[in-house]
Amino acid sequence: MNFSDSEIIASIMGEHGFATTQDEFDADVIFLNTCAIRDNAEQRIRERLKHLRANKKQNRDLIIGVLGCMAERLKDKLLEEEKLVDVVAGPDSYRELPKLVAEVDEGGRAINVLLSREETYGDLNPVRLNSNGVTAFISIMRGCDNMCSFCVVPFTRGRERSRDPESIIREARELATAGYKEITLLGQNVNAYLGKMGHTSELADFALLLDYVAEIPGIERIRYTTSHPKEFSQRLIDAYGKISKLVNHVHLPVQSGSDRILMAMKRGYSALEYKNIIRRLRSVRPDVSLSSDFIVGFPGETEADFEQTMKLVQDLKFDNSFSFIYSARPGTPAANLHDDTPQTVKLQRLQRLQAEIEAEAQRISQYMVGSVQRILVEGPSRKNAAELMGRTENNRIVNFPGQPRLVGQLIDVRITQALPHSLRAEVVTQEKVAA
Ligand code: SAH
Ligand code: SF4
Repeated sequence: MNFSDSEIIASIMGEHGFATTQDEFDADVIFLNTCAIRDNAEQRIRERLKHLRANKKQNRDLIIGVLGCMAERLKDKLLEEEKLVDVVAGPDSYRELPKLVAEVDEGGRAINVLLSREETYGDLNPVRLNSNGVTAFISIMRGCDNMCSFCVVPFTRGRERSRDPESIIREARELATAGYKEITLLGQNVNAYLGKMGHTSELADFALLLDYVAEIPGIERIRYTTSHPKEFSQRLIDAYGKISKLVNHVHLPVQSGSDRILMAMKRGYSALEYKNIIRRLRSVRPDVSLSSDFIVGFPGETEADFEQTMKLVQDLKFDNSFSFIYSARPGTPAANLHDDTPQTVKLQRLQRLQAEIEAEAQRISQYMVGSVQRILVEGPSRKNAAELMGRTENNRIVNFPGQPRLVGQLIDVRITQALPHSLRAEVVTQEKVAA
């Protein structure tokens, strides 16, 4: 999401005469676009700021800005604590950045952390950063109204608001015209999307938006992130039956397998309800791959609660997923809960969970060996520039020998080997199929 926001920021700054550079020592302005979801995300920014001292030493006029969620969370405290920082701007203040930078140019420091109920940046043309020319993100909504008890996002990104469908479709069409083949629709809670259609009072929900985007010629694959189980409607499940461009992969954060913990997290569903969504999804897409987010060590999580998470993982057979130790975020309701689980126990739980998920992901990779998979070729392989890299629908990286002209195409490959973090494959040619 921050990557996509950086593309919006680059567009705003671009309109005011700033271009991006790959050389940090060449920059007049350095913006760190920050995350506040866990404490260690913020610690990493603090470390980065330390390193930027050298840049400032070399160029006294260098302007350093901290943008996004950490800026929103800490506000002017950040200016107090980090003397190096000149600009602090929250996620809804990006349009103000040129003005804030100009203020600093005139001497002093500048801050804007106002949140908005309307801002979606829908009229802007994001500058595609580090683009492979094949895959791109489109932000479709901002903020979150869910108020999960552990989560800082509603405080840092503000109220939920959807971008209008016309501007999303315009952006997707432009990407298709420029040769992009895959788009990822972005939001904290994409399936709560409700966009106002033109000047009518009609609203488009997420399933309808998917219909519209799927109709755009040239867009071959659609992904989205992140969806929430509470709003995973039957209409969205039905979309999987109708829209073949929707990839065979769903990332649906569950957080925990224990109903007691899910309740304390205020997630709005039980483990059984989550399973029920997956059962219905698998009835329209039997081989859909499933990944998730997990939090271990939420305040009050007992061994029995954790075992229920392990059981859910074993039952549903998640593919590559993300799991984290709970991090108390000041100001969130859960931060006030009594938490008596030792950190070492939390770490052991995390390791057990990750080992289980990893083993299942490996089983899935092994199972793919010998099968023919449709991949979208994104560019040269990272490790070996003589080879190409593409992704399967379930987001596995596939490296294979092939002609550069295949970049940007959907092709069939036969998986020849499963490595821990990628697959190897060979192109399936017509001749081979005929033989
Ligand atoms: N909107 C998405 C997720 C946004 S944050 C959703 O609701 O699913 C991405 C992930 O970070 C979450 O799914 C959760 O697993 C994790 N996370 C959020 N707050 C956290 C916290 N306080 N401590 C640890 N992990 C957290
Ligand atoms: Fe945070 Fe919950 Fe909103 Fe996700 S749905 S961003 S976890 S409050």
